[in-house]
Amino acid sequence: MSRKLGAFINFGIGISAVFAVAGVVAFGLAQANQAAASAPDKTVKVSTTVPVKAPVSAPVASTPVSTPVKPAGNPTAVAKGNKTIFLTFDDGPDPVWTPQVLEVLAKYGAHATFFELGSMQEQHPSLKEQVLAAGNSIGSHSISHAQLTKVSAAKRHHEIFDGPASKCFRPPYGAENAKVKADIKAAGMTPVLWDVDTLDWQRPGKQAILNSILKGAHDGSVILMHDAGGNRSQTVAALDEALETLAAQGYTFAAMDC
Ligand SMILES: [Zn+2]
Repeated sequence: MSRKLGAFINFGIGISAVFAVAGVVAFGLAQANQAAASAPDKTVKVSTTVPVKAPVSAPVASTPVSTPVKPAGNPTAVAKGNKTIFLTFDDGPDPVWTPQVLEVLAKYGAHATFFELGSMQEQHPSLKEQVLAAGNSIGSHSISHAQLTKVSAAKRHHEIFDGPASKCFRPPYGAENAKVKADIKAAGMTPVLWDVDTLDWQRPGKQAILNSILKGAHDGSVILMHDAGGNRSQTVAALDEALETLAAQGYTFAAMDC
């Protein structure tokens, strides 16, 4: 499957609040990131909102101060310029591959977000704890990896509302429509897609996966990989080399706020 370019979307709205006190200015800025997408899955849009962190300073007491409004649901909020990358692993937890991914992450002091399936969590409950205990976060990837745009309303609700507990939801295959988005929101979650698709599920070879990561890596980028769904030895090997290279370039790897 060849890569397709995806569209941009914003999924978060940054709202600015200005404090005009003694020249202290706080502001939030939302920015849509460019997204390239293709998937095991199909068409995908990508979304990353990266508000700039407001400089912290004590407001003068007598001055009216407006309360900054935090964007609702912003799992990838980071200060721009921090060279932060969000690694994500879908379809697990898997008893063979998830521990290997965790081992590589730990080797570099890196954290990641695991978009897990309810069915896999049920089969391997201890892995979920292991993922969290290492400082990573868990997003929901539905219960059974159903394509949510093609199932009944009842099934869609079940997959979204009764899946892994999280504030983040990544629809299987990146398949979204208005109903899917509305359900995700109603369930108290934020949709999270990606902007770097490594296509690791196709097993294109360690080098190809590594190249995708290194080529796509930028401040705030969300990188899609898998820790289940087949032999992920290429993913593990590519991850190891990618983290070594990117860490040397000053990147850090954060778990999303899920
Ligand atoms: Zn998936």
